[in-house]
Amino acid sequence: MILQKTREEIELMRESALIVSKTLGMIASEIKPGITTLQLDKMAETFIRDHGAVPGFLGLYGCPSTLLTSVNDQVVHGLPTNKPIEEGDIVSVDCGALKNEFYGDHAYTFEIGEVAEETRKLLQVTKESLYVGIREFRLGNRVEDVGYAIQKYTEGHGYGVVRELVGHGLGRKMHEDPEMPNYGKRGRGKLFIEGMVVAIEPMINMGTKNIKQLKDGWTIVTRDGKPSAHFEHDVAIIDGKPELLSTYAYIYKALGIESDEENEFRREPITV
Ligand code: MG
Ligand code: MG
Repeated sequence: MILQKTREEIELMRESALIVSKTLGMIASEIKPGITTLQLDKMAETFIRDHGAVPGFLGLYGCPSTLLTSVNDQVVHGLPTNKPIEEGDIVSVDCGALKNEFYGDHAYTFEIGEVAEETRKLLQVTKESLYVGIREFRLGNRVEDVGYAIQKYTEGHGYGVVRELVGHGLGRKMHEDPEMPNYGKRGRGKLFIEGMVVAIEPMINMGTKNIKQLKDGWTIVTRDGKPSAHFEHDVAIIDGKPELLSTYAYIYKALGIESDEENEFRREPITV
């Protein structure tokens, strides 16, 4: 059953989402060649607790970390390690936080220094597909309208859409109804309702859509060893339209990037 949130609950969820957004902004200033994902993980845990929240992933389903850090051909659920990040890597950082009994869940794929042009393109298209999907998250549409749009856009660039892992409803639980696949057929699935909140999160592979899990029981990698990208926003339906609760504004500030990509999904522009 899809849970409808009140305006007050949505504002609490915005607070949780913004803590994750700020955490990823902090990570954006720290992530560079030589640092390990385990170091970033400790920084993120401290940052989240300093902001009066609790890491959302730590302990959930037995997860040992605050961040999930997926490097290059790792799709999602990469566990932080002692291996230094290298120039030319891409690192998907997925982070959750729990505050006031509500979860935020938000992810960004970072480029480390100079990244291969075809990899940059994968990141750009995957992030664009996130907004293409969010645009379909509105009253009158159904679950698979979002997935259809993401799939059409990314497959149009020759990329593979991961099937086994999907976005999800978000609230007092990290994973609520409905599942939000990044593929589908127009007009299928549950109808969207006012006040619902979901995490939309395309996981897009440069090559094959096929994946496998490593022996650590967590890390998901592409079957062909080619890179994969992951971008995730938390979105509510307010007045029938999608409204972003999370933001990349903190990341963009840290990286000196100018972007107006989020404006169409906000009633008020965000200032950081
Ligand atoms: Mg996530
Ligand atoms: Mg998620």
